[in-house]
Amino acid sequence: AKEDVHRRIKVFEPVMLYRRQLRRQTARELRQAVSNGELFLEYQPVVELQSGRLQGVEALVRWNHPSRGLVMPDDFIPLAEETGLIVGIGRWVLHTALQQLAQWRRLLPADRKFLLRVNLAASELQSMDLVDFVRGSLRKTGAEPGELVLEITESALLSGGDVETYSLRSLQALGVGLEIDDFGTGYSSISYLHRLPVDTVKVDRSLISDMADDDGQLRFVAAVHNLIRAAGMDAVFEGIETAKQARQLQEMGCCCGQGYYFSRPLPAVQVTDLLREGRTL
Ligand code: C2E
Ligand code: CA
Ligand code: CA
Ligand code: CA
Repeated sequence: AKEDVHRRIKVFEPVMLYRRQLRRQTARELRQAVSNGELFLEYQPVVELQSGRLQGVEALVRWNHPSRGLVMPDDFIPLAEETGLIVGIGRWVLHTALQQLAQWRRLLPADRKFLLRVNLAASELQSMDLVDFVRGSLRKTGAEPGELVLEITESALLSGGDVETYSLRSLQALGVGLEIDDFGTGYSSISYLHRLPVDTVKVDRSLISDMADDDGQLRFVAAVHNLIRAAGMDAVFEGIETAKQARQLQEMGCCCGQGYYFSRPLPAVQVTDLLREGRTL
């Protein structure tokens, strides 16, 4: 057993070293990614479950790395959060997505509601001038505050520092929508769900993944939905992959959902086509 341990350490060290170097290099490259124009956005449709109409989209960032090719956010957002680079990236995402929203707005009838969801990392909420940036970006792009929804994870919402609380209150005062992201994964904030300063709840896909062939899980999801409704909020379900899941959620009376069953994240032009054609999903 002792030999095993030594052998493992010998293998482990170079790997650790390599990982650290890779991280450092990735951080250096990521610092340039925004100014080099290497980031781009895709938009995943969020669908009204009763009608199949587009309720809006969620903006999701991707990195077109010069040598590694397409890098997905799970492989660089955590590093961006640790290094503080997320603040610059997040602002690029927000402004770019709002510019796109303003273009889509021109295709839509004035009374048609269309929501843009943008993810916000915990450290972005800690930045003092977030609210000024959001306000400025809304003004420059001409987007309506009521068309923007910021998705924030439970842990970020619950950290509850002064700056965070100020930011959340000011964003709500602006008329921007706030949503809990990944609900059901982090701390379970069930006891104070109704006191969180949010309007909607995005239920994590892990909650619905077994629902189609597990009656217990189906009842549990229905209970979670009722709980969210009891707190006076609407639920959006993510990770809907099958027709059966979509039907079950529709039968529960759930408002909205997103997932590969309806659509993968799409380039902006494909969303434009969907809106032009007025298609349902
Ligand atoms: P998220 O906010 O929970 O976004 C949903 C993720 O689930 C997306 O992955 C989406 O492509 C994926 N997804 C959608 N439908 C399905 C489905 O039916 N099945 C499965 N298995 N997955 C589905 P993506 O684009 O790789 O993003 C991963 C995470 O990266 C996001 O999770 C979010 O936490 C983060 N992220 C993405 N863009 C941004 C951003 O602009 N800012 C920040 N702070 N975080 C971002
Ligand atoms: Ca999200
Ligand atoms: Ca999520
Ligand atoms: Ca997630």
